[in-house]
Amino acid sequence: MIIGGKKVSSGTGRKIDVISPVTRKVIAHLERADETDVDKAVNSARNTLDGEWGRVNAIERGKLLLELSQCVLKHKEELAEIESADTGKTKSTAMADIKVLARYFEFYGGGADKIMGQVIPYLNEYNVQVVREPLGVTAHILPWNYPAQMFGRSVAPALAMGNAVVVKPAEDACLSILRVAELALDVGFPAGALNVVTGLGAEAGAALSLHPGIDFISFTGSNEVGKLIQKAAAENAVKCVLELGGKSAHIVFEDADFERAVPTIAKGIIYNAGQTCSAGSRVLIHESIFEEFTERIAEEFRAASVGNSELDLACGPVINESQYNKINRYLEQGVNEGDLKLVAQGKIHPSSNPNGFFIKPSFFVADEQKSPLFFEEIFGPVFVAAPFGDDQEAVKLANETGYGLLNAIWTEVGSRQQRLARQLKCGQVYINGFGAGGGVELPFGGVGKSGHGREKGFMALEEMSTVKTVVMYCGNN
Ligand code: NAP
Ligand code: MG
Repeated sequence: MIIGGKKVSSGTGRKIDVISPVTRKVIAHLERADETDVDKAVNSARNTLDGEWGRVNAIERGKLLLELSQCVLKHKEELAEIESADTGKTKSTAMADIKVLARYFEFYGGGADKIMGQVIPYLNEYNVQVVREPLGVTAHILPWNYPAQMFGRSVAPALAMGNAVVVKPAEDACLSILRVAELALDVGFPAGALNVVTGLGAEAGAALSLHPGIDFISFTGSNEVGKLIQKAAAENAVKCVLELGGKSAHIVFEDADFERAVPTIAKGIIYNAGQTCSAGSRVLIHESIFEEFTERIAEEFRAASVGNSELDLACGPVINESQYNKINRYLEQGVNEGDLKLVAQGKIHPSSNPNGFFIKPSFFVADEQKSPLFFEEIFGPVFVAAPFGDDQEAVKLANETGYGLLNAIWTEVGSRQQRLARQLKCGQVYINGFGAGGGVELPFGGVGKSGHGREKGFMALEEMSTVKTVVMYCGNN
């Protein structure tokens, strides 16, 4: 782990096996932190806030982040290899993730000295300033699906605003994050500004979220754990940002550009083996084109091949055995349910490791949006389609899962684009396109079961700082 600027082991002496999703072999060991380790990390963050890191100005913080961005790019082959070995991501997905990580450090490096305060016109004898300040020690609890990207997304704006951070990555995906934290020390971040504790969610994660020394929690993960985090934040009366799951819909109208829509929509759920919070995991299609459009999507699924990361196919394995079993249960349910028809499946490449957690991309259609496969986040390459009759029905179906991360509208009619964009309950709307693929600049987050608060873009700099209003009496003349 990285605590107080040093590589350290847990005081517990306990380890966690790192298992390759391709071979199921143990490829490394992680430290299994307990609350004492977490306490050390929080204290080292606090100490540097009151010391060295607290004295680094915004310009210098920006420069450090820009240097870290360059350093990540310099090490991109190594980092992509680590990411791919740890998570099973294909070579090119892992490389894309590392480049986005570098872009986060670049973007927030550039932003660090561009968040300004205000002077408020008030009574004549007063001068009022509103200044931005760091929150203090920020806790970052991350998921395993895009470890490097999520690390950059959560940590870069926090550091840009002068917070000292403690990160708890998911036990399934820590290796790239640990390496980047080392690189951060190499480029000159002071000891304690960026700490990484590894461990189990229920141990290290819970201890971090409940630690009285933290001032903020950025959590990305499931709705279930998100609720625990919100309660933990309430214990210490600190703010939290919850980036939870999704069940995002594509809404495809009769005038949609099929050539653009079909490959984009299919890729959106197959990419990264469907383990993307913002994946478009269902498609609502106007009844007049339902058959034709679902057949076009089916062709994409039949052509999708999955396998070992180095084969660089449509996707690699899913992350672990429990996800593998969970997705297979959904597939079984889909096949057995009378409402759903399995119309297409991809292939597992014959030279793939037989032990890999590979799932064939699978496409189901239904006459109605009724099955749980339309409402629950599967987090695998499983896609469902249902028809709609008119605009109002499309909006109703899109909104009725309770999730609200993002949705996409496929139509050339401008007024319909605008009207639906207003009526969809979610944090992002795409029109004739999908997915930010990084989209570091674009505010992101959910409503409803998808959480609250925003990361990405300049808004993250506001989320990860606080405001102080300074009211000065300066006399009557
Ligand atoms: P998860 O099970 O909720 O875990 C997320 C993080 O919370 C992990 O670091 C986990 O540690 C930790 N954790 C687990 N129990 C905890 C507890 N009691 N107290 C504190 N921390 C705890 O989610 P996941 O399975 O890793 O990730 C998949 C989910 O994340 C999906 O629902 C996906 O949609 C969502 N996600 C959302 C976004 C977004 O931006 N909205 C982005 C990516 C993923 P361990 O893993 O070590 O147990
Ligand atoms: Mg792993």
